[in-house]
Amino acid sequence: MSFSQLGLNAALLKAVAEQGYSTPSPIQQEAIPAILTGKDVLAAAQTGTGKTAGFSLPLLQRLADGPAVKANQVRALILTPTRELAAQVEENVSHYSRYLDLSSAVVFGGVGINPQMKRLRRGVDVLIATPGRLLDLYQQNAVKFNQLEVLVLDEADRMLDMGFIHDIKRVLKLLPQQRQNLLFSATFSDTVTTLAESITNSPVKISTAPANRTADDVEQYLVAVDKSRKVKALTALIKKHQWKQVLVFSRTKHGANRIASRLEGADIPAAAIHGNKSQGARTKALAAFKNGEIDVLVATDIAARGIDISELPIVVNLDLPNTAADYVHRIGRTGRAGASGQAWSLVSADELQQLKDIETLIQKLLPRQELEGYEPELKLAETTLSAPKKPKKPKVKKAGSASSGGPRKPRQGPSADGGRGQQQRRRRKPAGPKKPAVAQ
Ligand code: AMP
Repeated sequence: MSFSQLGLNAALLKAVAEQGYSTPSPIQQEAIPAILTGKDVLAAAQTGTGKTAGFSLPLLQRLADGPAVKANQVRALILTPTRELAAQVEENVSHYSRYLDLSSAVVFGGVGINPQMKRLRRGVDVLIATPGRLLDLYQQNAVKFNQLEVLVLDEADRMLDMGFIHDIKRVLKLLPQQRQNLLFSATFSDTVTTLAESITNSPVKISTAPANRTADDVEQYLVAVDKSRKVKALTALIKKHQWKQVLVFSRTKHGANRIASRLEGADIPAAAIHGNKSQGARTKALAAFKNGEIDVLVATDIAARGIDISELPIVVNLDLPNTAADYVHRIGRTGRAGASGQAWSLVSADELQQLKDIETLIQKLLPRQELEGYEPELKLAETTLSAPKKPKKPKVKKAGSASSGGPRKPRQGPSADGGRGQQQRRRRKPAGPKKPAVAQ
């Protein structure tokens, strides 16, 4: 199957070809034709499956045929849980729309609101936003939704995990009743399903991978180690394997800072990224990680959610997450889009229950590796595989496996702006390559 068989117009096909995509991923094969019909869509899709193009391409095609956007109006709204994800989605939208006369902009908190208000004055075809800042802008009359045609909720499960349900409900009340709704979520808990049911109308249901499946391409290892020696063991592992570009997960923000500074102390360039850091610091750390200035990025689950780094080779769980599903999200950061990767977990005796939960969820025992000199004094008990907990039936039909031909060649290397995207983009001429976006 090729992109041209999906009903996309020449301008989008050209932009997609320039991105180096040759074959649509399973989610794209399902979502693009469905969205082009104008129906609501409910999709179970993990990050790394090509979901962003899956909703952006048909959305842009629909907008290209409609009326010009008026002052302060928005024609398509994409809500995302994190600033980083918002910036990345906008970067993608901007690439895909380069040969269309459509504008895009991104708004999120943590940075000045005035440039965003100024940008919105001209109207925006596609606005990517985090919910809180969008509401602030609305309250200041900077954004209006009379022209809104499409709403996308990206990573809906994470938005609910992060407590955005009230903000989302507030936003929904502001939108016209008549609109197309697209909801993407990695997992479908009861709360996500309830939200989906309240938003969508007879949606087309799509799923590209069974819920809670771990990426087949990721090699997973466990090192049993005493809690107090975890950072030292991590340092030893990094040095032993000469790892570059390691994403380390910490359960807490405080822990993330501490780990990063201890790695720095051991001559391993590292930075922490979490919700307490200013947007500037987060963007800077991510850019430094992407362009190889630092080897290790230490992140909390929420901060890591929006990071798109192609072919990330190594993920380390310095703490096991409290929620087993987060383990799947974490290791999904590596081996993305068909690339191979490794996920290592440093597990202390007190984390036995989390380990059991994870192994039950993924239905696999994590292979244990010894790290010489770091054998634990407090032994981590052996585990056995228990029967899977009754899975929540995803109420979506299957469209094939994520490993059966997903995106093969993700964007290589860092983008010129470190993958951060720009805050605002000017309206562009229909043909010819885009001018660089101007942040205002
Ligand atoms: P996403 O799941 O949207 O975060 O996309 C994951 C990565 O796959 C991104 O780096 C995309 O640029 C890339 N990608 C998306 N669609 C394709 C495709 N059809 N072929 C190759 N790479 C793709």
